[in-house]
Amino acid sequence: MRMAQNGSNGSAPGANGRAYSFVDHTYDVVVVGAGGAGLRATLGCAQAGLRTACITKVFPTRSHTVAAQGGVAASLGNMGEDDWRYHMYDTVKGSDWLGDQDSIEYLVRNAPAAVYELEHFGVPFSRTEDGRIYQRPFGGMTTRYGQGTAQRTCAAADRTGHAILHTLYGQAVRHSSEFFIEYFAIDLIMDEEGVCRGVVALCMDDGTLHRFRARRTILATGGYGRAYFSCTSAHTCTGDGNAMVLRAGLPLQDMEFVQFHPTGIYGAGCLITEGARGEGGYLVNSEGERFMERYAPTAKDLASRDVVSRAMTIEIREGRGVGRNNDHIHLHLDHLDPAVLHERLPGISESARIFSGVDVTKEPIPVLPTVHYNMGGIPTNFHGEVLTLKGGDPDYVVPGLMAIGEAACVSVHGANRLGSNSLIDLVVFGRAAGLRCGELLKPGESQPDLPSDAGQNSLDRLDRFRYADGDTPTAKLRLDMQKVMQTNCAVFRTGEILEEGHTLINDVWQAARDVRTTDRSLIWNTDLIETLEFDNLICQAVVTMDSAVNRQESRGAHAREDFPDRDDATWMKHTLAWADTNTREVTIDYRPVHTYTMSNDIAYIEPKARVY
Ligand SMILES: Cc1cc2nc3c(=O)[nH]c(=O)nc-3n(C[C@H](O)[C@H](O)[C@H](O)COP(=O)(O)OP(=O)(O)OC[C@H]3O[C@@H](n4cnc5c(N)ncnc54)[C@H](O)[C@@H]3O)c2cc1C
Repeated sequence: MRMAQNGSNGSAPGANGRAYSFVDHTYDVVVVGAGGAGLRATLGCAQAGLRTACITKVFPTRSHTVAAQGGVAASLGNMGEDDWRYHMYDTVKGSDWLGDQDSIEYLVRNAPAAVYELEHFGVPFSRTEDGRIYQRPFGGMTTRYGQGTAQRTCAAADRTGHAILHTLYGQAVRHSSEFFIEYFAIDLIMDEEGVCRGVVALCMDDGTLHRFRARRTILATGGYGRAYFSCTSAHTCTGDGNAMVLRAGLPLQDMEFVQFHPTGIYGAGCLITEGARGEGGYLVNSEGERFMERYAPTAKDLASRDVVSRAMTIEIREGRGVGRNNDHIHLHLDHLDPAVLHERLPGISESARIFSGVDVTKEPIPVLPTVHYNMGGIPTNFHGEVLTLKGGDPDYVVPGLMAIGEAACVSVHGANRLGSNSLIDLVVFGRAAGLRCGELLKPGESQPDLPSDAGQNSLDRLDRFRYADGDTPTAKLRLDMQKVMQTNCAVFRTGEILEEGHTLINDVWQAARDVRTTDRSLIWNTDLIETLEFDNLICQAVVTMDSAVNRQESRGAHAREDFPDRDDATWMKHTLAWADTNTREVTIDYRPVHTYTMSNDIAYIEPKARVY
């Protein structure tokens, strides 16, 4: 669906002097991304009467949110006692005390209302006998501050993301937002004062270039799992918004924290939801031992993801992996009632059959820790406004720019995200961004003209890659990058391996100057789009590696064998990393963690000894 275009046309030369022309559009708000976060924000802005455009490189319901399986966390208490304070405690603890506690309070307090809102929008949640929303246990989710197991994760079988995304798309269309589908956003339009004035995008099916002018640009472009060789995320998860932010001279936050999900299918990377262990599944090593009982005597197989991923890696390293090469672990579901598997986990039963040839009712699934989620991203406050460090102010709001969802680092997940806390982050902060725009913007308010060179940076970048005539194809560069990240920035890290990774990933970045594309057209040029995506990934890979080299402690998903302890005195702070894409230099600085809450309803949660 392509919508009516508005405004005048402008033209400008690209890097090689070739002429390109722009179709100009003016909106109150432009949202880049139509995953759960982008759609919820689009809907909220449209509900506030703001003229809202949503740009997306894939059809909305193909966004990665559609693949989310296990569920969405909210303390509804439908299956036993629960309280938002318990959810808050778990999230602060799960974040290994790197999460901003004001944002976490905002998340968990608003979570139940956000889930009921989804229910009323039409999400077909699974039900309890008496008709309430079904909730399953998930890793790290407890009652009474770690005493009991909470059943907090609301699920639509194991297709929760699918249900949420389709419902939100229907709602967003209903509220007359305008969609620009299969438009690839290239770069932000920033003015001289550092105000974001919009974004430039390429319409992939006819090759036209579009300048979107808006009072607020909301980046909801998702994570960058594809910087790694084995990941659970879609091929489209290339963190384009994060890279646009780096190119705009702004920092990314906490990029060293990359979550590995314990149960990616061995060889394929596809996800087997944590819900499988929530329903009673367990892991065993080659000796048939349920080894998680040794590592986390209380939470066992439902310890948080970083703990389970590390335990599995240790088992494999110490020779207790299963399979011909002793290089993976078995996940058993075959002791569960086939009727339960059929009702609660139909999707993963199918994935296991297709991707590993296993009948889950009879055999274990071969699994391995696989990159799953990026805790790091664009720093924001809990309104979704993008922050940077300016004039000594660590919470300086970048005018005109917002970010939500996996692209953002708000930061509720800190050093490690708990399962089912991302989907709730999407809808709570997508809604918050809509509310903030409604509060601060007047519909149809006039906007100053764009700077005279608006969009030139996008044209130069596009033109450079369109005519790139080096010797190295994009696919080779991408594979080199993915292998370095998989080998040198993985579950366990040491200074030596990371330093080597720093050299190797910079070599790939340098080699990228020699990139070659072969298709020179602008119509469905996947060669060009994949090159723009690779260019986005490589700068994120570099800041991820450098942030990991820099942080000399172990916290959440960042486990340094040479610094095994968490060091709150020195490192209880957010990393900020800037990358100069011309000189290829990375600069690192810090922001303090918000250790204060929004209200006095919950006291600041003291860092305690880690007990799992
Ligand atoms: C397999 C899997 C299962 C998961 N299961 C769960 C779960 O059960 N519970 C949970 O809480 N979390 C889960 N997660 C995590 C969660 O699903 C994601 O973090 C979340 O869906 C990300 O949503 P998003 O809206 O930020 O981005 P996405 O859903 O990734 O959407 C990104 C959007 O940005 C657009 N976009 C990107 N770049 C551009 C560009 N250059 N131009 C135009 N548009 C662009 C895309 O078209 C897309 O619409 C899972 C993740 C995976 C990979």
